[in-house]
Amino acid sequence: MDMLIGDRWVSKPEKIEVRDPYNNHIIDTVPRATVEDVQAAIAAAEKGFAVSRRLPVHQRIAILYRTAEIVKEQQEAFARTIAREGSKTIREARKEVARCINTLQISAEEARRIVGETLPFDNMPGSENRVGYYYRVPIGIIVAITPFNDPLNLVAHKLGPAIAGGNAVVLKPATATPLSALKLGQAFLNAGLPPGILNIVTGYGHEIGDALVTDERVRMITFTGGYEAGLDITRKAGLKKIAMELGSNSPVIVLKDAPLEKAVEQTVSGAFWAAGQNCLGVQRVFVESPIFDKFTRRFVERTRQLRVGDKLDERTDMGPMISEKEARRIEQWVQRAIEKGARLLTGGKRRGAIYEPTVLTDVPPGVEVDCQEVFAPVVSLYRVANLEEAIQRANQVPYGLQAGIFTRNIELAFKAIRELEVGGVMINDSSDYRVDLMPFGGVKRSGLGREGIKFALQEMTEPKVVCFQLDENWSQPFPFQPI
Ligand code: NAP
Repeated sequence: MDMLIGDRWVSKPEKIEVRDPYNNHIIDTVPRATVEDVQAAIAAAEKGFAVSRRLPVHQRIAILYRTAEIVKEQQEAFARTIAREGSKTIREARKEVARCINTLQISAEEARRIVGETLPFDNMPGSENRVGYYYRVPIGIIVAITPFNDPLNLVAHKLGPAIAGGNAVVLKPATATPLSALKLGQAFLNAGLPPGILNIVTGYGHEIGDALVTDERVRMITFTGGYEAGLDITRKAGLKKIAMELGSNSPVIVLKDAPLEKAVEQTVSGAFWAAGQNCLGVQRVFVESPIFDKFTRRFVERTRQLRVGDKLDERTDMGPMISEKEARRIEQWVQRAIEKGARLLTGGKRRGAIYEPTVLTDVPPGVEVDCQEVFAPVVSLYRVANLEEAIQRANQVPYGLQAGIFTRNIELAFKAIRELEVGGVMINDSSDYRVDLMPFGGVKRSGLGREGIKFALQEMTEPKVVCFQLDENWSQPFPFQPI
């Protein structure tokens, strides 16, 4: 597929191959964008912004709804693209498409609600003859950079609110998975989005990233990806708004009164969804001592039932990791944890890019699988004495995106809500729960700002104040008599 700059789909002699990580087959190629291409895309976005800022709200709404409809009409084709270029199974991919449609529809609805308010200028002596208000205006050109693991819906989370807010965008999708984003770009154009408002450059972050994030014409960078890249971008960005959706190593706490089967089912799903390559993925499970052995036995049994393999087979539960390189990385991390005393309960084997669903226990503090983001199908089970210990260990990491807790005790649930250092706490659910309208984001190294359309829209618009000075004798001060 070609990349989108202004009103043209642009190809280049230099290509990047997009491969299916399951069988390494080439699915397609995309252009390898250069710094000059980025500059052309930003110039096109400048022209696009001149149009988008004047686009009436009803037209933005119509375009967003129509895009959602197009994605719906082509939902199976979108799902197959996601499943082929990335790690997701076809069933996981279909869920992502459904969420993308929802994200676009919410964006259309929220465009209606971009409102300001009147201001009481007369709160200050001398301003009695002023009336006015503020309203929200688009901020300008937004650079959006997205990761490989949700190649469609995380793109929609940036394009939906950006377009709803009247901005122009330059999108750089992950190099491993650019096809879903390009298909979505095509859907926007078919829905009637005027050219220049959306531009998509395909290229390596390490080659074109600086040109995107340092350009002074860009007013905001919205990034979803890893902490290292996020930090690098933040350092280079200069005077721009920054929104950072970064990684985590999410904790789930299972207390002794928990609904055990539900806790097992949902933590297994949360640990191995998208082969564990999920920012909300369950990585550390803290189980209260009296139920630890039973929980562990059931967890391992359930994990062993997962069918791993061909992503396009309807029966497959888990596909490969995004690349063999990534699978080799996690293989080494698990090996190092075992050398330091961790016990392997199941999994631990690699075949190309496939890494088996893996469960560890007795994981010593400080090894990678304990304190870094695994972003792989590897989960560690920890025995804890009580909720206090679970919270203390859950918080002992530099990340804080979401957490889950299973308990029937409302007092303990509230204690966890208060004490866990995260952006969201899911009660009787794993950390891996999200709907697209909720405020979503993390604390500590998990990020800065919130997505979820309404919240992203606040970031992507800014207030503009209007004040009318009226004739001096417009407001005759009421003779004020102190009582
Ligand atoms: P990544 O390596 O950080 O890459 C993310 C994006 O940034 C890609 O498009 C990448 O381009 C680009 N990039 C890399 N270095 C850059 C630089 N110096 N300047 C500009 N752009 C740069 O992350 P990933 O491996 O794709 O995704 C996994 C990470 O994303 C995990 O940490 C995960 O937790 C996080 N994530 C967070 C959320 C959330 O909402 N909080 C959601 C999903 C994923 P290339 O592909 O060309 O390298």
